[in-house]
Amino acid sequence: MPNDQPALPFYHGLSNTTQWDLDYTLRKMRSATYISPPKPYKAMLSICSDLDETPDADTYFEIMRFLNTGEETSMGKGVDLEIGNTMYFYMPKDEFSYWNTTEANRDRIRKLIRSGHIDCLHSFGDTATSREHAKKTYKELENHDCRFKVWIDHAQAITNLDGGIMLGKGDDLTHSAYHSDLLIDHGIEYVWRGRATSVIGQNRPLSLRGILRNKHFTTSSKTLLKESAKQILSRMGNAKYALHRPNRILVPSSLSNGTPIFEFLRCNPHWGGVSSNDTGWGLDDVLTRSMLDRLVARKGSMVLYTHLGKLEPGQKVFPKATIDAFRMLSEYYRSKKILVTTTRRLLEFNNPQRPASDTTNGWVQLPFPQIQ
Ligand SMILES: [Zn+2]
Repeated sequence: MPNDQPALPFYHGLSNTTQWDLDYTLRKMRSATYISPPKPYKAMLSICSDLDETPDADTYFEIMRFLNTGEETSMGKGVDLEIGNTMYFYMPKDEFSYWNTTEANRDRIRKLIRSGHIDCLHSFGDTATSREHAKKTYKELENHDCRFKVWIDHAQAITNLDGGIMLGKGDDLTHSAYHSDLLIDHGIEYVWRGRATSVIGQNRPLSLRGILRNKHFTTSSKTLLKESAKQILSRMGNAKYALHRPNRILVPSSLSNGTPIFEFLRCNPHWGGVSSNDTGWGLDDVLTRSMLDRLVARKGSMVLYTHLGKLEPGQKVFPKATIDAFRMLSEYYRSKKILVTTTRRLLEFNNPQRPASDTTNGWVQLPFPQIQ
């Protein structure tokens, strides 16, 4: 471990530091101050939805209108929260994506990127296999004044950044899918490389409370054991689970070429584990009153891992239970208990390099553009 690194390198300007010692950084982070949610809110939550298997463009936009406006929708009156979405570009013909839809829909997508409501690039998609696909995507975005700051690895796409569990080659300098330098040039600052936790509330000391459920004792015990194992392995120096150790939303990290970047942790606190009920169908068993109360009591932040477009077979709207869960979440937001915001805004707020004034300017919900 080098002794000459500054005490908290990420507080002193990422651009000045090209070489990271992850273990050193993580140990230092334990003594660093937690960033609290902006007052008067007690906790912060982003519903971070990968768009996989969204049935079609109409469903994608209607879900966004239900979540982000108070307008009448096919699911009833909208809940008027601030909930972002993801986009990918190159997918098999039967999957909704940027290039698989009409020009009119692409125009809607671009409006929502510019307004901040589509805030995460969900890789380039399953059929994007090379650096050329990355170049074409960024050219299209930048020609339309669209920029992403957040990258999320998708399934097992070859352009993923994580070369381990996500099987990506996007950060492999020797591979034809290498593109992580272009990603930085485009403006990406935050990357998700497949790490998810069951711990309710990040940016607070580690606590496993709330995972175990008496009603689902056997399965929830397994989930609790898995989360404990990740913690133990991370403390033994296992790189795969290193991100879990500090229980922080953001950890400074680097790409293979040494470029510093922030990596973030997502959470699915369902008792069945991080891959359980991670869909629009079944979300009511994740967004429960007890989970939200626990997040508030912890004064934590959370980026919730889900896929809102994955619905009951043949359905294009949320089931009633999910609609009710979002109505309940809206109560937590309106009573200033939980600030519900997009992933980009949550990450920017929790970036230790952000200007201090961000905490005192008040919080204004992003205006949702007219897309009908
Ligand atoms: Zn995906």
